[in-house]
Amino acid sequence: MVKATVFRQFCGGETVIECEPQIQRLAQGNVHAILDYSVEGKAQETDFNRTLDVTLQTLEFAKSHNYVPFGVFKPTGIGSIDLYEKVSLNQELSDTEQSAWEATVSRWETIFKKANTLQVRVMVDSEESWIQPAVDQLTLRFMRAYNTTSALVYNTAQLYRHDRLKHMESILELAKREGFKYGVKIVRGAYMEKERARAQSMGYPSPIQPNKAASDRDYNAAIDLIIANIDHMAVVVGTHNQESISRVCYSLEQANIPLSDDRIHVAQLFGMSDHISFNAAASGMNVAKYLPFGPVKDVLPYLFRRAEENTSVEGQTGRELSLIQQEITRRKFLK
Ligand SMILES: Cc1cc2nc3c(=O)[nH]c(=O)nc-3n(C[C@H](O)[C@H](O)[C@H](O)COP(=O)(O)OP(=O)(O)OC[C@H]3O[C@@H](n4cnc5c(N)ncnc54)[C@H](O)[C@@H]3O)c2cc1C
Repeated sequence: MVKATVFRQFCGGETVIECEPQIQRLAQGNVHAILDYSVEGKAQETDFNRTLDVTLQTLEFAKSHNYVPFGVFKPTGIGSIDLYEKVSLNQELSDTEQSAWEATVSRWETIFKKANTLQVRVMVDSEESWIQPAVDQLTLRFMRAYNTTSALVYNTAQLYRHDRLKHMESILELAKREGFKYGVKIVRGAYMEKERARAQSMGYPSPIQPNKAASDRDYNAAIDLIIANIDHMAVVVGTHNQESISRVCYSLEQANIPLSDDRIHVAQLFGMSDHISFNAAASGMNVAKYLPFGPVKDVLPYLFRRAEENTSVEGQTGRELSLIQQEITRRKFLK
């Protein structure tokens, strides 16, 4: 049932090869695809190695397909969430944990070495705030190593966190000082409820902005920061928010930077906001869709997040339905 409904709507297939028809369909509208192996919630070394293998396959695929501009991976797809958390807290690791951590770091190395050999850019997704310090440290290390002439490694900044704009500014300063390019995907963030609930139950201040307006304000400020510093940065603007995309267009025009500049991409999730993706591509922007894939039962956590996002009254579906209604009314009126 899942396969015939939400899976078909939000995923490209169960394997890289099964995604090809969707990649071709997107390519007809000049929309690119980012193959995202969306298997989540695994905890065994064999699962992490499997995800590593599939991620390497996606990099090979990207190299041989013009319409696949990036690779991507989720840090917890290739390492244990508990270990990322312990490392983030600077906690001492047992011998077993230490060797598991070394295996995790080695998987990161394998991905970026391959990406560098193939010259395929790779984004690192962001997850919960309590594992992000370890992810940020590792990503910075690989940006320093591989982003010397252009951005190959991209971290992700979640602007629903009140500290992320400052964090971006500090990495930008480092990039300027040390002479590497700061690659960053900017998103608002997907784990708001979970973050707030954990902060409340454990009694620490929530890392999330007080309201949506504050997330939007910092998201806009991040766009402005990047465009003003584009000689030191490269960006993927990951959003379904039409105003954010318009802001990118407007700011690029103001700065006399072509919409097609290769350092600037906008991206949406497959199955969502096609009206934004296809129109942005038609206007000359570099547009890509995250195309999730993987065995149906393993992508369920991803699908649940999408279903939640899309069924909220003020969410994506409501927004897209109202656009369709407007268009139907417009066409009726034309008759
Ligand atoms: C290509 C792509 C890649 C992505 N990668 C990641 C990733 O690596 N990590 C990740 O966490 N997410 C990721 N996301 C999901 C993203 O973070 C958002 O959940 C999703 O895109 C909705 O935000 P929006 O900008 O599209 O839309 P909008 O509808 O404008 O914003 C909704 C978002 O605003 C924020 N928000 C809503 N209400 C409040 C409130 N009361 N207070 C504070 N903030 C609020 C939340 O972040 C919410 O998701 C990605 C999305 C895309 C399109």
